[in-house]
Amino acid sequence: MPFSELTGQDRALSTLRAALRAGTLHHALLLAGPEGVGKGTAARILAQALNCEAPDRAPDDACGACGPCRKIARGLHPDVLLLQEERTMARAGRWEPRGGKTPSKDIVVDQVRDLTDRRLALRLFEGRRRVVIVDPAEAMNPQAQNALLKTLEEPPEDTVLCLVSSSADVLLPTIRSRCLRLPFAPLPDAFVASRLEAEGRPPAEARLAVALAGGSLGRALALDTATLAARREAVEAAAALPADDAGAWIAFARAQGEDREAARETCELLLVWLRDVLVAQAAGEGAGLALADLAGAARQVAGALSPAEVLRRIEQVRLTLGSLRQNAAAGLALERMLIGWFHGC
Ligand SMILES: [Zn+2]
Repeated sequence: MPFSELTGQDRALSTLRAALRAGTLHHALLLAGPEGVGKGTAARILAQALNCEAPDRAPDDACGACGPCRKIARGLHPDVLLLQEERTMARAGRWEPRGGKTPSKDIVVDQVRDLTDRRLALRLFEGRRRVVIVDPAEAMNPQAQNALLKTLEEPPEDTVLCLVSSSADVLLPTIRSRCLRLPFAPLPDAFVASRLEAEGRPPAEARLAVALAGGSLGRALALDTATLAARREAVEAAAALPADDAGAWIAFARAQGEDREAARETCELLLVWLRDVLVAQAAGEGAGLALADLAGAARQVAGALSPAEVLRRIEQVRLTLGSLRQNAAAGLALERMLIGWFHGC
């Protein structure tokens, strides 16, 4: 797959492709943006473009079909190295933890040292450029990040490091400052919807998946029928809550679960619901709602709250989602948010 088939990431890709054309590619890149929007794919296409052997290819793209391109797509090119969580690599038989330890869910310092001291010390096997893809980069624990610093600053000749991250802000500042950041954006809803449609998903299901996915194709595709049915039920429960009863909302949030993943899901479904209320305020009818069958409830809340108040609540949910990514205590963050809804602070 060439760069031209990667949709919605013109900003990041134009920087990358201009550097490829000019031969000025930075040796350390940070592909940063929401999960499921094409960062990992872009890193792989970059590795292909740097090693593609098609005689008529564009200098800033890969053909996707020659020997090296196909090897890279299948993860079999010896000069394209993928660094992932220890557990994932152990499961795939590509890494064995030192001293027979249980594999960690992090990328650990031993893995980074194996890369920097052993693998990068070798000559290239068959490619023109070696590409190291660290995905997800935020899985590196602090020792692992520190062990990578020197290589990030001065990698061996012919080596490019690509850090892929959906939480780039949690990486050490010393890591971030050594990389050229390529910002990836959420994908347009219409594009995500068209992909779901192509998968044959029923329209009502697709609409809710698009609304919950927040511009991430990966997440939209991962939301299966059973998960969507459960989320729909939760939004229905939220829609039935009295708009002015803080206690009822806090009880609802607790019932959804108190760990970080549950808190994130609760925030996402509250966003879907509040956006529908906003749409009902603007349009006054069912058009454009993620949950058209809840139009009546949305209109009722739309009449009880001002648009400014709905926007304020949406903003607070967004802020809470951000703080959850930065390790905020999940139950507490949600409660604080809901108290903020009802006390205007
Ligand atoms: Zn090729």
